Amino acid sequence: MQLAYSESERHLATEVRAWLADALPRLPPRPARDDWDGRRRFDTGWQRMLFDAGYAGIHWPRAYGGREASPTEQLVFLEELDRAGAPDVGVNFVGTLHAGPTILAEGTADQRSRYLPAILRGEEIWCQGFSEPEAGSDLASLRTRAQRDGEEYVINGQKVWSTYAHVADYQELLVRTDPDAAKHKGISWLIVPMSTPGITVRPLRTIGGPSEFCEVFYDDVRVPVANRVGAENDGWRVAMVTFAFERGTGFVGEITEGMRLCRQIADIAKHVRHGDGTAWDDVELRRGIGRAAASFDALWSLTVWNVSEAARSGVPGTGASALKLRVGEAFQELADVGLRVLGRGVLAIEDIDGMHSARVIEEYLRGFGLTIGGGTSQIQRNIIAERVLGLPREPQWTS
Ligand SMILES: Cc1cc2nc3c(=O)[nH]c(=O)nc-3n(C[C@H](O)[C@H](O)[C@H](O)COP(=O)(O)OP(=O)(O)OC[C@H]3O[C@@H](n4cnc5c(N)ncnc54)[C@H](O)[C@@H]3O)c2cc1C
Repeated sequence: MQLAYSESERHLATEVRAWLADALPRLPPRPARDDWDGRRRFDTGWQRMLFDAGYAGIHWPRAYGGREASPTEQLVFLEELDRAGAPDVGVNFVGTLHAGPTILAEGTADQRSRYLPAILRGEEIWCQGFSEPEAGSDLASLRTRAQRDGEEYVINGQKVWSTYAHVADYQELLVRTDPDAAKHKGISWLIVPMSTPGITVRPLRTIGGPSEFCEVFYDDVRVPVANRVGAENDGWRVAMVTFAFERGTGFVGEITEGMRLCRQIADIAKHVRHGDGTAWDDVELRRGIGRAAASFDALWSLTVWNVSEAARSGVPGTGASALKLRVGEAFQELADVGLRVLGRGVLAIEDIDGMHSARVIEEYLRGFGLTIGGGTSQIQRNIIAERVLGLPREPQWTS
């Protein structure tokens, strides 16, 4: 096994580092968290800069605007982004990390050439419409109905927790196309333009303040049959492909962010007063920070594995659930150490003495969501138990 980077990989790292050194100072100031027009502009602007430099969708086929980089080159690129403190994907999350990859794996040639380049150029933002009020963990119970009318589907129903729906142009939507089939067998995966008449988007507020979540209502929404990805009623299988990307490689940004937050907390610990010294003098806190750093290091190795597997077979494998499970937990452990470092400072929602303390509190609150979004920790444990360890399936309850 070759652990060191090759000559050409080191060359890529130098090239990316030089580009970032030039590009990052040209970025406008980051908008406030609840300035959604500003956030869309900032995130899509950054995506466009990546595209123009040839770094958007670095591992995607050239035909759709990518660079066909190898898995290792992709990781070299991500490491350089992290090292330079570059912005994350932001509102481009769904398009670049799971809707786009699903279309690449399962879409028709027309769908690929229509949607993929626009995602990479930052021109079209996507959101996900999977969860419903009565169908979260038990997603296959979804009831949003799509009835065939000639060459169109007519959609009626409701989705919830749709991240970025209020700024999105398209949605990856799961609908029931056969209400009489067994629940996993009557579902289809559709591409839905958010501007279609009959769609109402209502933003939700959460514990962290103004949020990125929305409810979405569909009232006789007409979508061409040509917008279906995969066969009619085969949407459950396509959704599993989406989840493999979402859980397997979609959390890369969270991991590099966790590493960054870990360094910030270590830095804050050296300045916060604890008794006669600083928080850094407390061996338990230092150990907690060290443990968190080791967790994120291990998660990075798991990411390397998932990225390699995705490159080999087209889709990340069962390691995806292990990664998703551990990312959520590691984030919570890290945020918990962060709170202990801050002590009574956690009562302040703003930065204390120029330290990035507000970020620690924000990440603590966000940590809860990370153990839920993309499938809860309990559900990941069920998947690992059944599909990786081969334990018996959990009983199916009927009401
Ligand atoms: C940050 C974040 C982003 C999200 N983004 C989106 C999005 O963009 N699009 C979208 O469609 N959805 C999104 N979601 C919704 C998310 O997918 C659901 O919240 C999640 O699947 C859980 O569903 P639920 O909220 O209905 O909880 P429930 O399914 O009602 O679960 C409640 C509790 O019961 C447990 N539980 C349920 N079934 C089992 C079981 N069989 N075994 C053991 N325990 C079980 C769960 O683990 C959980 O603790 C997001 C959620 C979050 C937090």
